[in-house]
Parts: sequence; C-alpha cells; structure tokens
Amino acid sequence: MTVKAYGAHAGDKPLESIDIIRRPVGAHDIQIDIAFCGICHSDLHQVRGEWAGTQFPCVPGHEIVGRVVAVGAHVTEHRAGDLVGVGCIVDSCKHCGDCDDGLENYCDGMIGTYNFPTPDAPGWTMGGYSQQIVVHERYVLRVRHPEDQLAAVAPLLCAGITTYSPLRHWQAGPGKKVGIVGIGGLGHMGVKLAHAMGAHVVAFTTSESKRADAKALGADEVVVSRNAEEMEEHASSFDLIINTVAAPHNLDAYLALLKRDGALTLVGAPATPHPSPEVFSLIFKRRTLAGSMIGGISETQEMLDFCAEHGIVADIELIRADEINASYERMLEGDVKYRFVIDNATLAS
Ligand code: NAP
Ligand code: ZN
Repeated sequence: MTVKAYGAHAGDKPLESIDIIRRPVGAHDIQIDIAFCGICHSDLHQVRGEWAGTQFPCVPGHEIVGRVVAVGAHVTEHRAGDLVGVGCIVDSCKHCGDCDDGLENYCDGMIGTYNFPTPDAPGWTMGGYSQQIVVHERYVLRVRHPEDQLAAVAPLLCAGITTYSPLRHWQAGPGKKVGIVGIGGLGHMGVKLAHAMGAHVVAFTTSESKRADAKALGADEVVVSRNAEEMEEHASSFDLIINTVAAPHNLDAYLALLKRDGALTLVGAPATPHPSPEVFSLIFKRRTLAGSMIGGISETQEMLDFCAEHGIVADIELIRADEINASYERMLEGDVKYRFVIDNATLAS
C-alpha cells in the first residue's frame, strides 16, 4: 500500500512530500492510521546525518499516535477503532534476555521505527511522518487518555518514556532531590514526571525566559545554569540529575552537584562528544555517570497509564507537514514550548 509521507533525500536537503510503501498486514501486524506525530531532536540529528549511518530517503518520526484500521488474524490485544501509540521500537529479536526482561530497548536486534534494517521496501524502516504504519502487535501501546488530548499524548512515546525510565530506575520519589537539565521536549516531560512521582524537582536551563515556565511545569526550583553562583548553591545535594542537552558541554559542573552515591544520567545524545569529565568529580563521593536509552515496551505502557491517571500530557505546538523544516530551525534555537507535533491529516495535501 502506498501512503504519503514527509522525508529527506539527503542530509543537506529539506524534507519534502514523498510516497512510501507499507507492507501488507501480517498475522501479528496492526495497521494504524496515524493522527499525530511528535518531532524529536533525534529526528533532526538523523535526517541531517549528524549521527553516522542515515539511509536516504529518510522519513523520521517515533512519537506516533492514531487509530487501528486493521489487525492480522492472530492479533488479540487490539482491534479496529482502538486508540494506540507507537514509540521508538517496531521490532526486536523477541528471545534474548533483554527481550525476556521486557527491555527490548537494549536488545542487540532492536529495530527502531525509522532508519533501521527491515525486509520491507526499501530495506530500512520509515517513521511516523506518514499517513499510516504497519507494526507487529508487541510494539503497539494502548492510549487511555481522552481522545481530545491525543496530539499532546504523542510526545509521551519518546520524550515521556526516555525521562520516565531513568526516573524509575534511579527511584525518583518522595525525599529525593532530582535535577532535570535542558528544558526542551525531553526535559519538560522530565520535570512533569518527576514532580508527579513526588520528588523535589530542580530544573536547569540556559534560558532565562524559561525560569517562570519551569515552575509552572512542576519544578520546585529553577537554576539558570550560566549563573555559577546559582549552581554553587546546590553543591553536593542531588540524588539524581537527568541531562537532556543535545549539545556537548562541561559535565563537571553537574557532577559537582551530586551528593554521595548520586547519579548523573545522560539521555541527550549530541553529535560530538562532551569534554571528558574530571576523574576527581566521580571518585569524591562515589558518584556515578550513567546513560539511559528510551524504555522497554511494558514500561512504556506503564508510563502511558501513569500519565493518563495523573492527567499528564506534553505542552505542544501543532503544525502542518509543510512547517516541519521551519520547526527544525526553531527547535535548534530553543524556540518551542515544548514539542512540535505534526497534524498528519495535512500530509494528504
Ligand atoms: P530539544 O527539545 O531541542 O531540547 C534540548 C534542550 O537542551 C533545549 O531546549 C535547551 O534547553 C538545551 N540546550 C540545547 N542546546 C544547548 C546548549 N548548547 N547548551 C546548553 N543547553 C542546551 O531536544 P529533545 O528532543 O528534548 O532531545 C534532547 C536530546 O536527547 C537530543 O540529543 C536527542 O537526540 C536525545 N534523545 C535521546 C534519547 C535516549 O533514548 N537517550 C531519546 C530521545 C532523544 P534550555 O533552553 O532549557 O537550556
Ligand atoms: Zn525521540
């Protein structure tokens, strides 16, 4: 089946309307009419070839929500008409220890929603900037939010789970002091989620203009990270800091804010490395520098249900498909509060 999509033919070319092919619905497949798709900074990194290995044409998008239109003969969990989501994962080996543990995100055979190898034409996966997608049932999530919130649910499928998973793993909750660095798509979700989990939340931003906003998102305190004195006030006090920044920067400034056994977890994935941190920043106070990648399928469902229960959605700006290129430029300037979401109905025109 041929569907309309938006993608790029090369890293230095803008995205444009293209036609792509979706596979026939297999016995375990679910065919989804995509209503909305969020724009993640990872889309920009990959469609511009900033990380190695982008295949062109590239159709990004891994914050997908929509409605089931058809299911294969062996599908039991979903039926036509259901509201569903698809995040960053559309396949994995299904039998390794990671898959058995529900951590498909760490399976060596994980297949990302776009730019990963697949037997389907043209040989690599094509993402959610498209009218429809066909996905194995294991990787399709149930959406329990009211339908009028659907566009604002889309960013939960990547920005939500990527911050939820490390918050849970490092046990954010009452009595814990948690920092979120970079108040963009991921960061604003991190603040909302850490607040809902009951942690004391401190937002770190480079943008003075986000100081008041971050409090409204749920931060107890806001630090403008360019201000050394404000940073110093929080020395050796954090249990956990999640860093979402998409550009290389000095990590020692954040390691110094961790108390004994605290962890700085990197989720931001800049195209070039951070300067190496001082070993002394780690050995004093037995601090940990860690990383975390999205989350498994069962944890993504848990996160969606947690958000539905607590009334949590992303703060979004809804755009047309022909505004995608302009929105990339605005994202680079930090000019989005806090996630662009594409109205996929506009792909048709
Ligand atoms: P985003 O919306 O562009 O937000 C990034 C934020 O980082 C900006 O809003 C800005 O916040 C801050 N920032 C940007 N440039 C900076 C600089 N030079 N110095 C200091 N702060 C800067 O991006 P996103 O979609 O949240 O994604 C963030 C990163 O996470 C990307 O690298 C993306 O590829 C990665 N990612 C990783 C995973 C994973 O599984 N680990 C999943 C999804 C995305 P302030 O204005 O508040 O400073
Ligand atoms: Zn993403």
